[in-house]
Amino acid sequence: MCTEMQGLTDTHTHLSYLSGKGIANDCIDNLFNEGFGFMLDIGTRAGDLAGRVKCLSCYNNVRFACGIWPHREFLDNPEENAAKMEKDIDGAPESLVVAIGECGFDKRENPQFSCGEERLLELQLDIAARKCLPVIIHSRDAPEQTIAALSRFPSVHGVIHCFSYTGSEAKTFLDMGYYISFAGNLTYKNAHNLRSALLYIPQDRLLLETDCPYLAPSFHRGKVCHPGMIIETYKAAAEILKIDIIELKRLIAENARKLFRVDTQA
Ligand SMILES: [Zn+2]
Repeated sequence: MCTEMQGLTDTHTHLSYLSGKGIANDCIDNLFNEGFGFMLDIGTRAGDLAGRVKCLSCYNNVRFACGIWPHREFLDNPEENAAKMEKDIDGAPESLVVAIGECGFDKRENPQFSCGEERLLELQLDIAARKCLPVIIHSRDAPEQTIAALSRFPSVHGVIHCFSYTGSEAKTFLDMGYYISFAGNLTYKNAHNLRSALLYIPQDRLLLETDCPYLAPSFHRGKVCHPGMIIETYKAAAEILKIDIIELKRLIAENARKLFRVDTQA
């Protein structure tokens, strides 16, 4: 059977949030039955791994990242949170956790500079370095801070998720060895900066994601986003890059396989 879902890779999902938004596991079952290739489920707080694994362990093609998003509530005790997260990883079955993240800076959550935010990221970069895992970086309205923090950990690589900057920042992250990932906002009417940044990304450093349940592509705007909607982002990217969508699916699967060392089944 060949469907539009065949061979798709979604490198950034929050699948365990979907049921709370009215989307049942049937949706994920159907996507995999239709040939969807691979989904990476992302952590946002210490201690969240066990619950996520519990609701998703039935899927062979889902792997996990562990990370702490820079929520204000975590910034007073970064050490304690990072230690708890590391325990999550150490207690998980081999090869289930394939990355650290999401972690980083969010200027909307934390408009003032906070040592706690920087420390929380550094602790997670240190875990990534020690465990030789890639990182998934969240960076909103804080490109300089992000570049400065990442450059202190040159052995660590990963992906700048839901890329929201311009080609010039993309170039800096690429030079530092990072992949760049675009989400559904690539399809938004006013996202000219993202569409032109996409053209800067070498094909072997590009990833695509939904960040579901957030950021539904414009075709589905206003709805709760699920991984199947990523097809709209693939279509938009294929059009901008002037490549065939089958080739783009192959390329993204290959890039995810390389970065996260997973079997993406494309
Ligand atoms: Zn996310």
